Amino acid sequence: MSDYDYIIVGGGSAGSVLAHRLSSDATTRVLLCEAGVDTPEGQVPAAILDSYPGTAYLDPRFLWTGLQVTTQAVREAFKPPLRKYEQGRVMGGGSAINGQFFNRGGPSDYDEWAARGAHGWDWASVLPYFRKVERDLDFDGPLHGDAGRIPVRRIFPEAWPGHPKAVARALDEAGYRYLPDQNGVFEDGYFPIAISNQDERRVSAAMAYLDSATRQRANLTIWSGAQVSRVLFEGNRCTGVEVEFAGEMRRIGAREVILSAGAIHSPALLMRSGVGPAEHLREWGVEVVADVPGVGQHLMEHPSIALASYIRKAARVNDLTRRHIMLGWRYSSGMCGAPPGDMFVAAVTKTSWHAVGRCVGTLLMYVNKPYSDSGQVRLASTDWRVPPRVELNLLSDPRDLDRLVDGFHRMAALQASAAMREATSEPFPASYSEKVRQVGMLSTRNRILTDVLAALLDGPAPLRKLLMRKLVAGGPTLAAVLADENLLREFIRGACVGVWHPGCTCRMGADDDPSAVTDAAGRVRGTRGLRVVDASIFPALPSGNINFPTMMAAERIADLILAGDPAPERAAVADPQREPSLVQE
Ligand SMILES: Cc1cc2nc3c(=O)[nH]c(=O)nc-3n(C[C@H](O)[C@H](O)[C@H](O)COP(=O)(O)OP(=O)(O)OC[C@H]3O[C@@H](n4cnc5c(N)ncnc54)[C@H](O)[C@@H]3O)c2cc1C
Repeated sequence: MSDYDYIIVGGGSAGSVLAHRLSSDATTRVLLCEAGVDTPEGQVPAAILDSYPGTAYLDPRFLWTGLQVTTQAVREAFKPPLRKYEQGRVMGGGSAINGQFFNRGGPSDYDEWAARGAHGWDWASVLPYFRKVERDLDFDGPLHGDAGRIPVRRIFPEAWPGHPKAVARALDEAGYRYLPDQNGVFEDGYFPIAISNQDERRVSAAMAYLDSATRQRANLTIWSGAQVSRVLFEGNRCTGVEVEFAGEMRRIGAREVILSAGAIHSPALLMRSGVGPAEHLREWGVEVVADVPGVGQHLMEHPSIALASYIRKAARVNDLTRRHIMLGWRYSSGMCGAPPGDMFVAAVTKTSWHAVGRCVGTLLMYVNKPYSDSGQVRLASTDWRVPPRVELNLLSDPRDLDRLVDGFHRMAALQASAAMREATSEPFPASYSEKVRQVGMLSTRNRILTDVLAALLDGPAPLRKLLMRKLVAGGPTLAAVLADENLLREFIRGACVGVWHPGCTCRMGADDDPSAVTDAAGRVRGTRGLRVVDASIFPALPSGNINFPTMMAAERIADLILAGDPAPERAAVADPQREPSLVQE
C-alpha cells in the first residue's frame, strides 16, 4: 500500500486549496510538500501580512532566488539579457508575496478555454468555483460568493489620496465610466481594485485554506522545507516522489501525485522526471517516460510597460491604508480583433517602500489579453537544485507590441491632462531595471540613500528636474519617444517585463491537440496517477491577474477528484455554494 493517497507538490495558491479540500475526507491520507518556509497561524511574517506587498516580493526568504529569465526572444545577433524573476518559495506560494489583486478576467476568457478543448471550463461552469473561493465583503448577487475562504474588498474613492483621484478625474474627462465592482461588470471603465485582504492584512491561500483547524486533521501531513527532486514511475504509472526533507533524501509512495509547483517548476519537474518533449529529454540524458511535446511550451505572461512621474507632496499615499495601488482602468484597444477589455492600467501611487518610492508613481500598463505564447521552460541541468531556463518571449506576437505602443500614447495623453499635471510632474518612460530592484531591497543603506535623495527631490524645482532626469529616470525622455515611433518601439521592447503571471506551460486540451499536456481534469497525458493543477494548466491567460483563476481551477479539480473523476464533460458543475458541496467544511 502507498504511504499516501495524494502527494501534493507545492503549497502555493493551488496546492493550499487542494490540501484543504482533499483532506476534508478523513479516510484520505494527504501529504503536502512545500520547498519554502511555512506560515502557520500566529507565525506569518509581518512582510507577508502587510497590505503593501513591495517588501515581501523582494525578500529572499520567500523567493526562488536563483531564478532568472529572458524577456525578449533571441534575434540573430541579439542575445537577450538575463533578469531576476520573482516566484514565491513559501507556504502560499505567489499568494503570499503577490500584489493581492483578486480578479477573474471575463466570461469570454473561459469560453475561450472551453473552445480550445478544455471541456467543462466555460464561464457558466467556472463561475460557481470563483464564488466558492471568495467571500466578497462589498458586493453580493449571482456573480459573488459570500462564504468562501478568501475575503475580497476594495478601497473606494473616498479613501484615495490625490494621485489616484487625479487619474480618476482625467479618466472621467476622457469619457470612461466609474465601475464600483470590477468583478461584476465586464465593461470598460475604471474601478477600485479588488484585493484578497481583510482588516488591512493580506490573506494568502495558505492563511485561508491551511488554517489551524485544517492543520489539526490527522490525515493531513504538511512538510515545509521539502523540495521534491523528481516524480517516480513504474512504467508510466506514477508511484510517488523523491523529496529532500529534514536533511534527508526520501522516497515516498502515493496513489496519485499532484504537481502544484507553479507554471515554472511544474513543467521543470515533469521534464526532469521523464515527461516532456522526447528529443529535449534525450539531450539531457533523461529516460523518457512519456513523450509529451507541450510540456514547458506556450508559456504566456502579461507584457507590461510604465509611465512614471514625480508625485507632488499633497497627492501622495495617505495614512488611511498601506495600499499603494487603488485604481485600475480597463479599456478595449479595438485593435487586431482583440476582445473587449484587452488592456489594463493600474495607478501606482508608491513605487517602493522607501522615501523615493513615495515621491514617484506610475501608470503601469499591461496587455490584459496577450497573444504572445512562444515562451518556454526548458531544462538547464538534470540537477534538481538548478533552476530551469525560462524564456518569456514577451511581444513575440506583434499584436502585443502594437497595443502597447498605442497604449503608451493613451497614457501620455492622460498624463498631459490638467488633473494629472496638478498632482504630478516630470513624467518619464520607466523600466523595472536591476538598479530599481537593488534600491528596492530593504536595507539601512537604501533607506539612508533614498531619504537624502527624496529630500532633494522635494526641494527647488530646477534641482528636482535635474535629479529626476539624471538619477531617477535614465533612458529616453517622454518627449523623445512620443516624437519618434521607432524609438518608442525600441524603448518598449527593451523595457517590457512580465508582471509575475507565468502560465500555460502544461496546457489542458482535447485528446487530439498535440500541444495539450493534460486533459480537462489535469491528468497528464501518457501517464497514470499524475496530475498538474496550478497556473500551468491554463489553455490561455485570462484577461486579468491569475491568482484567483488558479484557486478557482484548484477548487474545481478538487471537486472532480472527490467525485471520483467522472469524465470532465459529465463532471458535476452544480453551484457549490448553493447545493451541498462534495466537500464538507
Ligand atoms: C511578485 C508577484 C506579484 C503578483 N501579483 C499578483 C496579483 O496582484 N494578483 C494576482 O492575481 N496574481 C499575482 N501574481 C501571480 C499569482 O500570485 C500566481 O499566478 C499564483 O500564485 C500561481 O499559483 P500556483 O499555485 O500556480 O503557483 P505558486 O503559488 O507559485 O505555488 C507553487 C509552490 O510550489 C512550490 N514548489 C515549487 N517547486 C517545488 C518543489 N520541487 N518541491 C516542493 N515545492 C515546490 C513553490 O515554493 C511554491 O510555493 C503575482 C505573483 C508574484 C510572484
